[in-house]
Amino acid sequence: ASRPAAARTRTTCGYCGVGCSLEVATHDGEVTAVLPARDGPVNRGHACVKGRFAHGYLTSPERLTRPLLRRDGSLVTVGWDEALDHVARGLRAAMEAGGPDAVAAISSARATNEENYLVQKFMRVAIGTNSVDNCSRLCHSPSAAGLAASFGLPGGTDTFDDVERADCLLVVGANPVEAHPVIGARLLQRVLHGARLVVADPRSVGLAVHADVHLRPRPGTNVALFHGLAHIMLTEGMADEEFLRARATGLKELTDLLADYPPDRVAGITGVPAADLVAAARLYGRAEHPAIIYGLGVTEHLHGTDGVRSLANLAILRGAVGTDRGFGVSPLRGQNNVQGASDMGALPDVLPGYGKVTDPAVRARAEEVWGAPVPERPGLRIPQMFAAARAGALRALWVIGEDVCATDPDTNRVARALDACPLVVCNELFLSETARHADVVLPVASWLEKDGTFVNFDRRFQRVRPAVAPPGEARTDFDTVRSLATVMGVDLGCPTPADALAECGRLAPVFAGLSHDRLDREGAVPWPCPDPDRPGEAKLYTERFATPDGRAHLAAAPYLPPGEQPDDDYPLVLVTGRRWAHYNSGSMTRRGGNLALDPVDFLDLHPDDATRYGVRDGAQVTVESRYGRASLTARTSEQTVPGQVFCSFHFPASGVNRLTSDQADTVTSCPEYKVTAVRVAAL
Ligand code: SF4
Repeated sequence: ASRPAAARTRTTCGYCGVGCSLEVATHDGEVTAVLPARDGPVNRGHACVKGRFAHGYLTSPERLTRPLLRRDGSLVTVGWDEALDHVARGLRAAMEAGGPDAVAAISSARATNEENYLVQKFMRVAIGTNSVDNCSRLCHSPSAAGLAASFGLPGGTDTFDDVERADCLLVVGANPVEAHPVIGARLLQRVLHGARLVVADPRSVGLAVHADVHLRPRPGTNVALFHGLAHIMLTEGMADEEFLRARATGLKELTDLLADYPPDRVAGITGVPAADLVAAARLYGRAEHPAIIYGLGVTEHLHGTDGVRSLANLAILRGAVGTDRGFGVSPLRGQNNVQGASDMGALPDVLPGYGKVTDPAVRARAEEVWGAPVPERPGLRIPQMFAAARAGALRALWVIGEDVCATDPDTNRVARALDACPLVVCNELFLSETARHADVVLPVASWLEKDGTFVNFDRRFQRVRPAVAPPGEARTDFDTVRSLATVMGVDLGCPTPADALAECGRLAPVFAGLSHDRLDREGAVPWPCPDPDRPGEAKLYTERFATPDGRAHLAAAPYLPPGEQPDDDYPLVLVTGRRWAHYNSGSMTRRGGNLALDPVDFLDLHPDDATRYGVRDGAQVTVESRYGRASLTARTSEQTVPGQVFCSFHFPASGVNRLTSDQADTVTSCPEYKVTAVRVAAL
């Protein structure tokens, strides 16, 4: 008998936002190994335990292989035709009862660019609403808003390849050693080759032991911290006055504000010693080529957008953005395609390429390409969708690749919203926490089973290619959207993912130079990329900023306290984050070998707090907040400081997001995951 041929497929990792290029070896239709591509443009032959080993979920017996429909309270297996007919009828009923805005969709980074493009087109063209959002609402929406306000575009300012040449790294609110290990290793290598390192993070994260200065601000005090650094830079003459005169605006207002942020006052707000503030400001402010890299510790706050803008102030003051001087401001995106999901217009206020839906010229261009009217009124953000469902105004919700009942804050309220919504449709790999509340569950392909592109954290488009076929009757999200549109009598066009990206380029000039063929030839291409014959822009703003006046905008936002404060009833502050072997809700990484690497969720607390609250290392504890209760295993750790506890969100069974606060960024509605007041008690 002839042996089936082994195959290798080049694709892009579907976990974190680094975007490692991977070679997937298959035999007889199954993945046998995943190896880092030696010529990967970002990873250069490296990968982490997630990309390399977390593929066992593909053949998990728990994979969904046929659609499920709720009948008499239970989810039962049905065929695709019946499932899609039910969804189509439910969407029509919702629209008859409440108009197009009674329907909403939540897309995600698990979907490719082409899938996100098609989802938002479906909502706008087939339904007639702008109520489509994606998971960036919960993580980096303040980056998009803040970076766009400061510089003009809602993405990082520089390519990571340039960051790697920096002589001073300011790493803020990020734990790349665990959350983005390939980048964490490259940063560490840079430090070992002489770059100075300032880490700002309440926890003693992996890079902190190598830092020249480790700033440990109280959670929720970032804006004061950044203003303190800016104050020192200005008063000690580290600002680039020529750059500020020629290319920035807002210096007078910021200077006036910073008078209130001398080191001693900032030390009182943040808990960071004034001497450390001065040392950090001098390292960043006197470096020849400084770079800022930041994560969710900056964005997931009540004033997350102010945090991003106040951090961006440092780069502007130093003239370290859009110049040879430095390497700007780079957000570390937690998820593979969270940048792309937003780029493709899966947002309630913008179309693909970030043109505002309220702008008649933007709508006119889309209407010409789509041949259909585009609704003008901005749609609902994710938290508003849940509120509308609880109020009875939202009557149908389609959730695509996002386990909102595990990863959104205050999940008890999210579950009540889903239960109140007459039709909840869920595209999923597994019977997730969200799928358990759905009326229809559509089985879909994972990133190793589909065709398209992702955009990584430094705006690079890369190809995603199917290494294996999806199991059973599972379909790609792309096929799901097209099939549903067909059942509803709507022709969405875009028969293939390549066609969808091409159409997106006709609608959004910043993507006009991109195509699957080009990416197949060149590997990775950053946007903006308006011309198929010219390279994309890796480093932004070298001639002018993309703001209306062409200048960088300094922000003068005062420090305001976080939404939650510890008190006698809830004396500890819970911070949530990521761990090295798992990804998001863990639905993929917990089904396979990575569970053995990191099998249990822990509540990390300082030994002093363990003593104070009578908690033994390894004991089960209950954790309570004003929102809910969770049960976890305690682990004493000096990574956290007294008064703070830390937990991941990779294990939905422990219910950590039942605890998290419903406070949200005042600009973007990004939840304040990083500050929840809790109490801990031994069981
Ligand atoms: Fe690379 Fe991130 Fe995937 Fe790890 S999870 S292999 S760092 S893209």
